[in-house]
Amino acid sequence: MGKIYDTIIIGGGPAGLSAGLYGARSRMSTLVIEQGKFGGQIVTTDEVENYPGCEKNSTGSSIIARMKEQCDGFGVEFIKETVVEVCLDGDIKKAVCNKNTYEGKTIIIATGAYPRQSGFQNELEFRGKGVSYCATCDADFFTDLDVAVIGGGDSAISEAIYLTKFCESVTVIHRRDALRAAKSLQERAFNNPKIKFIWNSIPEKAFGDEILEGLVIKNKVTGETSELKVDGCFVFVGYIPITELFVGKVNLSEDKYIITDDDMKTNIPGVFAAGDVRVKSLRQVITAAADGAIAATTAEKYIESLE
Ligand code: NAP
Repeated sequence: MGKIYDTIIIGGGPAGLSAGLYGARSRMSTLVIEQGKFGGQIVTTDEVENYPGCEKNSTGSSIIARMKEQCDGFGVEFIKETVVEVCLDGDIKKAVCNKNTYEGKTIIIATGAYPRQSGFQNELEFRGKGVSYCATCDADFFTDLDVAVIGGGDSAISEAIYLTKFCESVTVIHRRDALRAAKSLQERAFNNPKIKFIWNSIPEKAFGDEILEGLVIKNKVTGETSELKVDGCFVFVGYIPITELFVGKVNLSEDKYIITDDDMKTNIPGVFAAGDVRVKSLRQVITAAADGAIAATTAEKYIESLE
C-alpha cells in the first residue's frame, strides 16, 4: 500500500506553501502538488512592497523561493503533477494525478485563480501578439512603445505603474470614472506623467495586421467609439477561481469560489481551502499565507480528532 500523507496540499502558491510550512512544522507528513511553476500569481509580480517584513526590492519570485526553502527545511515533499480528479469522501482522500494517485487524511485546496478575459472582439486572436495578461512577463517587449491597460483595480494600477519603466506611454482604460485600486496606488498613478486615463470606457475590439495596432474604445456614457493606437494591451480585469475539480463536491459560491468558515473548513470533513480560491474580502499574499497557516493547523486538529 502506498503512503498515506497527513495532508495533501493542492497548489504551490503562498497559501499552499504556508500550509506546507505549518503542516510540516507540526510534524505532519505533508505533500504539495503543483502543476506549473511554484508561486502562483505572485511570481508574475515584479515588486512586492506590502508583505510585512519583506526586503526592499522583494519580488514575487524571491518571496516564493524563500517560502519554498523554508518548506524544504521542514521536510515538505513536492510533486509536479496535474490533479485530474479528487475523491474527498471518507477518512482517506485521494488526489488523482496524470501519473499517480496520492492519498491523504486531509486535503488543503490552494489552487488559486487565473486572469479573467476582458471580452472584447479579437482579444484571444491577439493574445501573445500584443494582448497580454502579465506585465512582468511581457513588459520588456514593449520598451519605448505605447500600451493600454484595461481595468481599475489594484492589479491594473500597480502593473500600469510597472509598465512605465519600459513603455513610452501607458493608457489606463477603465469602465467607470473612479478607480477601485488602493488610494496609495491611485496617487502614484495620477502623479506619473507617463500614465493617461480614459474613463467610462471599455475596449470593443482589437485591430492590427497580424500584430496588435490598436483598440476601438467605446465610451459607455456617450456611446461614442474612438480608436486608440497602441502596440500592447495589458488586461487586468479580475480573476477566476480554479475550482473545476471541486464542482459538485465542495460548496462553492455563485461565482465559483470555495466557501469556508474562519478555520478554512469546507463543508466536507477533512477538506480545507486557503488563499485566492476561497470566498474572502481581501486577496493578498499575506491573507493567502494566513489562510494556509490556519488550514494546516485546523487539519492537524482534525487528524487528532480522528485518532
Ligand atoms: P479586481 O479588484 O476585481 O478589479 C478588477 C477591475 O477590472 C475593476 O476595476 C473592474 O471594474 C474591472 N473589470 C472587471 N471586469 C471587466 C470587464 N469585463 N471589462 C473591463 N473592466 C472590467 O481585480 P484585481 O485588480 O486583479 O485584484 C484582485 C485581487 O488581488 C484584489 O483583492 C486585489 O486587492 C489583489 N491585488 C492586490 C495588489 C496589491 O496589493 N498591490 C496587487 C494586485 C492585486 P469595476 O471597478 O468597475 O468593478
